[in-house]
Amino acid sequence: MRLIWIPFAFFAIVPAVIAQTGLNSLAEVEFSQLSQRDPNPLGEKALSINPTQWKHGETEHYIYHFAHSYVATPISVEAEFHYRVVAKELQRDQPLTDIKSNVYIFERPEDWQQFQGLGELEKWTGGIHSQGSLFILRNPEQKFSGNVLGHEIVHLVLHRFYADGIPCWLNEGIAQYISKSAHASYQRARGYLSKPHSEAIATEEVIPVATLVRFTRPPSDRVETFYDESERLVRFLVATDKPSFLALLDALGRHQPFETALPRFYPARFATVATLEEKFREYAAKDFGTTLQQAEE
Ligand SMILES: [Zn+2]
Repeated sequence: MRLIWIPFAFFAIVPAVIAQTGLNSLAEVEFSQLSQRDPNPLGEKALSINPTQWKHGETEHYIYHFAHSYVATPISVEAEFHYRVVAKELQRDQPLTDIKSNVYIFERPEDWQQFQGLGELEKWTGGIHSQGSLFILRNPEQKFSGNVLGHEIVHLVLHRFYADGIPCWLNEGIAQYISKSAHASYQRARGYLSKPHSEAIATEEVIPVATLVRFTRPPSDRVETFYDESERLVRFLVATDKPSFLALLDALGRHQPFETALPRFYPARFATVATLEEKFREYAAKDFGTTLQQAEE
């Protein structure tokens, strides 16, 4: 079994993306000249708040709505970077669609407050997702911390590949798993010392896998454990066998039950959810911080 799996594609991708987009600021495009319209009614609502502030721009896979291009530019670089990372990790070299994802970047907290009641806020990141569009508050005086923006962008890219939805643990687990590794290599490409870190979970905290996979939203009383454990479970399934993981992801994306899909793609390893549970509990409690670090050096 390969215990460690690092998305090694990052090393090639980061400098290329920064070289292509890092030097120029995002070009402003008139709304009427944008190549696509967002059919999402929330997008229209967003643009109706303080309407004169909105400017627009686009890159290969996204359309952005923003107030200042110096705020939108780094977001656009990170968004395209994550698109490539996710497509590579999911081995989706051929795009399923040329439909771009819309990203709305609020800068004024009072505008955001007015907007935020309209959609469902992801408590983990403070972003709002709706039908493949992302709405975020970006205070220019505060930088996004850690992998928060990356996490949101991974959701957007997953939505392009699985527009009918994937289970909550899988969506959040992949978002955490990819954005943590990507954030670390993104930082490294810019000269910072950074290592991906996967959070270990105390044995008594572990949510049973059969329960974890059934949540349709993060349980409000165990939010942190839910995110950490979902990330670990994705990491574990990928490390055990990546082709099996991708096949499982596709089956779950077609809304097949976890209990029946799991043994089909991991017949030798996990004949039942109970077998997975037993193996995963050991893995969940391990601290892989140092192992990841060694593997990357
Ligand atoms: Zn999320």
